[in-house]
Amino acid sequence: MKYAGVISGADRKSLSPVFQQAAFDALGLDIVYEAWATPAEGLETRMSTLRSPLVLGANVTIPHKEAIIPLLDRMDALAERVGAVNTVVNREGALSGHNTDVDGFLRALKEDGAMDPAGKRVLVAGAGGAARAVVVALAGAGASAITVINRTFSRASRLVDSLSDQAGDTELSALPDIYPSWAASSVRCDLLVNCTPAGSASTPGAEGDSGIPVDILHSGMLVCDLVYLPAETTLMTEAVSRGARALGGLSMLIYQGAASFRLWTGQEAPVTVMFDAAREALGDAEGGSE
Ligand code: NAP
Repeated sequence: MKYAGVISGADRKSLSPVFQQAAFDALGLDIVYEAWATPAEGLETRMSTLRSPLVLGANVTIPHKEAIIPLLDRMDALAERVGAVNTVVNREGALSGHNTDVDGFLRALKEDGAMDPAGKRVLVAGAGGAARAVVVALAGAGASAITVINRTFSRASRLVDSLSDQAGDTELSALPDIYPSWAASSVRCDLLVNCTPAGSASTPGAEGDSGIPVDILHSGMLVCDLVYLPAETTLMTEAVSRGARALGGLSMLIYQGAASFRLWTGQEAPVTVMFDAAREALGDAEGGSE
């Protein structure tokens, strides 16, 4: 028997154990996937346990995606570019860091959002680790312009500065979180991505609306919310009511997990099984029985 798990903050619940375990079981792999909630002061010890020959690796989520970097032996080029790690692989006691959020987001956008980001104008809300992965993904896929708006402007500005050397022909800019910024940058926008937890029922204090002014949403946009609980967020409902298309965060969650699965096992992940297991658990959570 081998082990994998998700390293999250001590107070956070993750869906990964549900759909990763379903995937291992569906392929008959003798692997147990556990929830490894870890406070910041326990991170070093947690990482040392990953070096065991029994452990394949781990997913890493809020708030540890950057904090684990000094505890790794190496990082792949993409994780270096994003500056955040969401997957760790253990090979004979050496730990490597990867970022599968980038590929997970692009696959979700293309397969479930039916959008090729090449040449598209994008508005990104938020400037944390998820926003960095989304900006790297979109710039790498040839988006023509990306505007980042965050409630802490200095963080949006730092994101843009630190990624500008890898933006290629993509025009990158940061704007403060005030109404005129949203209004101006939404006019010719093809894609809006919410990379904040606002609107999430699984983040204490973030329930409700996204903080994005809904009157900027229009029928020429795809609105992509990385939040996956609830499955249809207020932002998505508002988008659809204004004629926009909407994509929730579950697709990215499953595809980033599928890419992690491939790194640990060398096998393609059964994504249909993963979607089914996650939707069942989300249905229970929305019904109030999580
Ligand atoms: P993070 O590094 O903590 O960054 C959070 C960002 O959201 C920051 O820019 C923060 O602004 C902003 N923010 C937080 N609360 C807010 C609020 N109430 N109103 C407006 N802005 C707010 O987190 P992250 O890793 O980027 O993750 C962000 C969200 O994406 C989370 O909900 C996470 O679950 C989700 N996510 C989903 C997937 C998926 O596969 N679907 C993958 C990765 C992340 P400040 O800078 O001002 O603090």
